[in-house]
Amino acid sequence: MIAIRGATTVESDTPENIKESVLELMNEINRRNGLTGKNTVFMLFSSTADLRSYYPATAAREAGLGFCPLFSAAEPDIEGALPLCIRVMILAETSSEPVHVYLRGAKNLRKDLKMYNVAIDGPAGSGKSTVSKILGKKLNILCLDTGAMYRACALKCIKEGINTPDEESVGTFIDHIDLRVSYENGAQKTYLDGEDVSEKIRMPGISMSASAVSALACVRKKMVALQREIASKNSCILDGRDIGTNVLPHADFKFYLTASAEVRAKRRFDENAQKGFDIPHNIILDEIIKRDEQDKTRKIAPLKKADDAILIDSSDMTAAEVAEFIENIIREKLK
Ligand code: C5P
Repeated sequence: MIAIRGATTVESDTPENIKESVLELMNEINRRNGLTGKNTVFMLFSSTADLRSYYPATAAREAGLGFCPLFSAAEPDIEGALPLCIRVMILAETSSEPVHVYLRGAKNLRKDLKMYNVAIDGPAGSGKSTVSKILGKKLNILCLDTGAMYRACALKCIKEGINTPDEESVGTFIDHIDLRVSYENGAQKTYLDGEDVSEKIRMPGISMSASAVSALACVRKKMVALQREIASKNSCILDGRDIGTNVLPHADFKFYLTASAEVRAKRRFDENAQKGFDIPHNIILDEIIKRDEQDKTRKIAPLKKADDAILIDSSDMTAAEVAEFIENIIREKLK
């Protein structure tokens, strides 16, 4: 059993605003903690004394989130308290580490939860995803593998029978693409048209298609908007190719990971072997070199180190060592 805390603020004391904020807070808590509703045991809400028009617990129940006992309490009117604020404490039956969620200015309540974003860019096989996952756990923040989103777009093209993606063919679906990223037991899951495609997007062959589709302006526009939306609501690590240069040019921390092409190909080879894919090392190396070239030379948001990013060559470092190096820099600045 774990206890999860959360808080949000409300625009004004109206039932509509209270409902909206409670729903947003609950959805975010559920998403980030992998709660289904069925594993929630108890929810206790409290609201500041300036919120009188509606009970948050009623809002949660009306939104269909109340599978468990709910309770609302009014806080005393304390001078200096954050105005129009709703807090929640949730008990849930799960073994994962709790991710506390503070939205809409309520993050000021927790200095340790100051919102910040970390951009990690670099070429294929530089260790971005592995390092981000380790860091995400250590810092207890979300990590978004943006490559997974472009991979899902490539999968969508295959589903639609589009062999050579161009603006026109991809433009027919991209604005309405049903692409969702969620976190289940701390792991990122990618859903396309309601289907969990987290495994499928890692199949050999998808990498090159993702690189091709990611060069299209309509695809980048849509994906970058989704990525910025996620980053605006949470402290998170985004890993990709253009995070520090384009998606979050004002990210609090920027890193650019690299490693020699041989080392990167060896890492992919080992990963593939673990998954049971038998692809020769030289073919992987060729693909990595070709993909780097494609990603670096495309017109829109090419793979590039941001001027203010810290360069890390991970050729002779383990992922844990890189993560520790980055973690120390972040913790030092957050002190
Ligand atoms: O990182 P991953 O190998 O999963 O990325 C797949 C492809 O998606 C990359 O080769 C790149 O072309 C594209 N991508 C991108 N911008 C990002 C992340 C990935 O263009 N932020």
